[in-house]
Amino acid sequence: MSITRWGNPPWIIDFHPTRGPIPDEVDFAVIGGGFTGLSAAAWLRQMEPGKSVAVFESGSIGAGASGHTGGMTLAETAAGDLPGLGDVLSGFSATLRDLAVDGDLSLPGVWEVGRSGALPDSPISWTDSGNLRAIRQVPGGTIDPGKLVSGLGRSAAGRGALIFENTTVEDIAFEEPMRLNVVGLNAAGREVRAKSVLLATNAMSLELSDLAERAQPKFTLALATEPLSSAQLENLCLASGKPFYTIDFPYLWGRLLRTGGIVFGSGLVHLNDWREFAELDIAQGEVAELMARLELRVRGLHSSLKNVQVSNRWGGPILIASGWRPVFSRHPRSAHAIVLGGYSGHGVALSVYLGRWAAEALCGRRALPDWDSAGETA
Ligand SMILES: Cc1cc2nc3c(=O)[nH]c(=O)nc-3n(C[C@H](O)[C@H](O)[C@H](O)COP(=O)(O)OP(=O)(O)OC[C@H]3O[C@@H](n4cnc5c(N)ncnc54)[C@H](O)[C@@H]3O)c2cc1C
Repeated sequence: MSITRWGNPPWIIDFHPTRGPIPDEVDFAVIGGGFTGLSAAAWLRQMEPGKSVAVFESGSIGAGASGHTGGMTLAETAAGDLPGLGDVLSGFSATLRDLAVDGDLSLPGVWEVGRSGALPDSPISWTDSGNLRAIRQVPGGTIDPGKLVSGLGRSAAGRGALIFENTTVEDIAFEEPMRLNVVGLNAAGREVRAKSVLLATNAMSLELSDLAERAQPKFTLALATEPLSSAQLENLCLASGKPFYTIDFPYLWGRLLRTGGIVFGSGLVHLNDWREFAELDIAQGEVAELMARLELRVRGLHSSLKNVQVSNRWGGPILIASGWRPVFSRHPRSAHAIVLGGYSGHGVALSVYLGRWAAEALCGRRALPDWDSAGETA
């Protein structure tokens, strides 16, 4: 998947694995080198250092949502808490610690903001289709997505996982072992046999993960401003480092960067087919129009932002699954394949946390949750 036209976020992924020969057979194949796949690969090797792990990534690591995210670390899931989910933020922090990953994690809390029901002493007062004010604080914070992708990649490779960038899994024959048809650099249609597979392909390859009929791929946008002065950040009430998101529409979220710049995000492009991702261009058509609208909203939010310069514009894929619940289940065609994703734009902490859980499930050490119908009768 070419992502050169999705724009450039303000962080860098400074780790790329050394490429070795593609093996004929592995114990565990992980498809997708985002937060989910890299976390699972690192944890598989941590638990089972004697077993082989190969990650196949179509682009470079972080080429999908993980490198193009906003980096807010949120509790629970987009559908709230789910049976057996546990504490996502504690599990996320513990996984970073256990895998020795420095993702610049900070958890000062998150502002929920909205156009009604504000706190009487709301420190926030912005203008965006009404008066946007603070409604409550919830647990959460931010990471540096470049550091998180790089750190997870380094951790997985350091533990002996083989990571193949620019290598796509085109097809899987669901036999025992499964046979993966792998295409990419020096691998024109190679077959790799895998005893177990994790599909961590998020909004792409939806036929492979059997999600084409069950989840909707979308493209969403973000921009980063040039660094603001401390006075500007104080005026905006963003100096504390607490990110925010709206709980009503039109949707808007934002977070402070270490540089003093702020990332704002909003907007959804609807796709009929995930292959349309390859055509999306941050500077053209509907995406460019949505970006211009976002920029206008940001400048109108507060006098401190009226003349702000935008340094980065980008977008990336998200996958909305049924009931906004993440998909975490066996592949219908094999008990040895797990599908994990569909975080509905709420996957930074969750992907790393569930990636570890998926690794444990692949090793038979933990059961999968049953979220397919959770909440439907509630
Ligand atoms: C603009 C934006 C802002 C966001 N902001 C936030 C936020 O602030 N907080 C939050 O919690 N969530 C946010 N999200 C969502 C979050 O980033 C994602 O949920 C998370 O990154 C998903 O990680 P992943 O590893 O599952 O998927 P991805 O990072 O998309 O990884 C999937 C990978 O699979 C690869 N792939 C696909 N098919 C194949 C194949 N056949 N063979 C090999 N490789 C393949 C892709 O190239 C890709 O790299 C945001 C998303 C976007 C786009």
